[in-house]
Amino acid sequence: MTNVLDVTGLTTQFTKKGAAFTVVDELSLHVKKGEALGIVGESGCGKSVASLSIMQLLGANGKIRQGSVRLNGRDLLALPQKEMQRIRGKEMAMIFQEPMTSLNPVLTIGKQMSEVLEKHEGFNKQQARERVIELLTLVGIPRANEIFAEYPHRLSGGMRQRVMIAMAIACNPALLIADEPTTALDVTIQAQILDLITNIRKELGMAMIMITHDLGVVAETCDRVMVMYAGQVIEHADVRTLLRSPKHPYTIGLINSTPHKSKGARRLFSIAGSVPSPDEYPVGCRFAPRCDKAMPICSIQRPPLLELDQQSSCRCWLYEEKAEPSAVIL
Ligand code: SF4
Ligand code: MG
Repeated sequence: MTNVLDVTGLTTQFTKKGAAFTVVDELSLHVKKGEALGIVGESGCGKSVASLSIMQLLGANGKIRQGSVRLNGRDLLALPQKEMQRIRGKEMAMIFQEPMTSLNPVLTIGKQMSEVLEKHEGFNKQQARERVIELLTLVGIPRANEIFAEYPHRLSGGMRQRVMIAMAIACNPALLIADEPTTALDVTIQAQILDLITNIRKELGMAMIMITHDLGVVAETCDRVMVMYAGQVIEHADVRTLLRSPKHPYTIGLINSTPHKSKGARRLFSIAGSVPSPDEYPVGCRFAPRCDKAMPICSIQRPPLLELDQQSSCRCWLYEEKAEPSAVIL
């Protein structure tokens, strides 16, 4: 099956006080139709910047320096802004953590959703209204007719996130990017929203990238997962393999610090220290200052992303001998 999204060697830098810092470092990923890829890591690892780079929604400070982003084979970085605007919303859409920041507070739900359909699909008012009500019903909003005329602030957080999902899927995009879509919600609502996203994704056959700091969310919603640390992918595997036999010491730390339903309220392990900021990346392995397995080479030489088998890779010197000599990905 062909890939919906192909990202190759994507490097994004931010400029601060005249100096450039690499926030996403040679990211490569591929997502097929109907497939869900998780990107996981602590905050400040570059996950959100990676997704904003793919969507080309970086602010004035951010610049893609290198690499390519292809959606259904088309090179997005070569497109004019106007064409990119058309693609956003229609062919690729994003759901953010806080729906209030993406919803327009002065427009009714119906009005802002209709605008999307009028702009991207050429619907007239009546057609748009019918489709909006259908979409609101699809995402489990009761009394869609009444919600159509409501303003966003009148809805609960969970309902607003349902509206955002409805808006994101309005034009049946090939790719959906969800950035911490449930982090701001109550636990019970979180589970409902994750179920909703999964059901809709499967029903519409969309490719999805789920960005989260929570491995539990990845376990529930994704097929494959990439772990990011300090701007780099440090491990990539299918979800089951990664959760059952994590390789990278950072991934192991993340798993040990994730609450497990069956283990109750045991005290959680947490990884000592914090993610370095892009202007302070260590020379060798960026995780070395926090790693309890660090060896002399780790603080001198940057480990490449080693291909362990066809489905998995890991950026750690501990696995150098296990990898194929020709399997250095970068
Ligand atoms: Fe730890 Fe070294 Fe592996 Fe980095 S390369 S994760 S410091 S063992
Ligand atoms: Mg983020």
